[in-house]
Amino acid sequence: MATNPIPDITLNDGNTIPQLGFGVFQIAPRDTVAAVREALGVGYRHIDTAQMYGNEAEVGQAIRTSGLEREEVFVTSKLSNAFHRPEDARGAFQSTLDELKVNYIDLFLIHWPLPTRYDGDFVSTWKVLEEFKADGRARSIGVSNFQVPHLERLAAETSTVPAVNQVEAHPYLGNEQVRAYGRAHGIVTEAWSPIAQGKVLPDPVITEIAERSGRTPAQVVLRWHIQRGDIVFPKSVTPARIAENFQLFDFSLDETDMDRITALDQGESGRQGAHPDTFDYLPA
Ligand code: NDP
Repeated sequence: MATNPIPDITLNDGNTIPQLGFGVFQIAPRDTVAAVREALGVGYRHIDTAQMYGNEAEVGQAIRTSGLEREEVFVTSKLSNAFHRPEDARGAFQSTLDELKVNYIDLFLIHWPLPTRYDGDFVSTWKVLEEFKADGRARSIGVSNFQVPHLERLAAETSTVPAVNQVEAHPYLGNEQVRAYGRAHGIVTEAWSPIAQGKVLPDPVITEIAERSGRTPAQVVLRWHIQRGDIVFPKSVTPARIAENFQLFDFSLDETDMDRITALDQGESGRQGAHPDTFDYLPA
């Protein structure tokens, strides 16, 4: 078997995470085992799921039946918006382990800060994640969709710096302020919707670079993220795309092309998903 080409990134707690993973948002539970098995077959060793995706059990099943050891696959999940209260978060975290049928998770995140819910108290939720790290059931802990002021509150009121902050980022939303805070404070950025769910792929700058370099638009965009140093986990249920999105380590973009893609940033108008300051969705 070919050596794994995926670089590891070292987190601020000393653990390592593969820079490229496989995301399973919006993969129906009935399709999840096949998609994750396909990804593991291609060589992905990092799966990004969440309680709110409703497919943790299927992710666990795919890993267990893949022939790989548990330790060979880095698994991330995230706390549902429904369970920010400390007592709820403790039970919900154990249900993630039970669904996945694992006795530890590699990385567990607060999915959204929900500053307009729970009296804006994501700090007490974070302190509960610290317990999971301390007892070893979460190897690393982090956050998702945290803006700079949210991160500043964690820094002021708690003693653990999140290992990662998973935020929307792609050529149309560079999210540079949040990324810069992460760089300055040892928080690795994970870029969600790295190809903006396909919306950036027809951009003329992307297609021109793709044609000239003999790569696909998705490969060009994903390579841009890799060279920025962020972690990515593109989602696909299409086997050819799952394989395509893995082929990022036998070419590189020069500085001019990197800068041209970075210049596509549209600021807030490039945001595709919800804004973390106002998103208040609670699952039923
Ligand atoms: P992506 O940017 O990964 O895009 C996925 C879409 O692009 C799908 O429709 C897929 O189609 C299509 N696609 C994938 N590869 C290619 C390709 N090579 N060429 C053309 N089209 C392609 O979007 P996601 O929103 O899924 O983001 C990725 C992951 O990030 C999620 O799965 C999840 O793990 C995470 N995420 C986290 C969030 C958070 O709040 N923390 C929010 C959103 C995402 P098809 O499947 O039909 O092949």
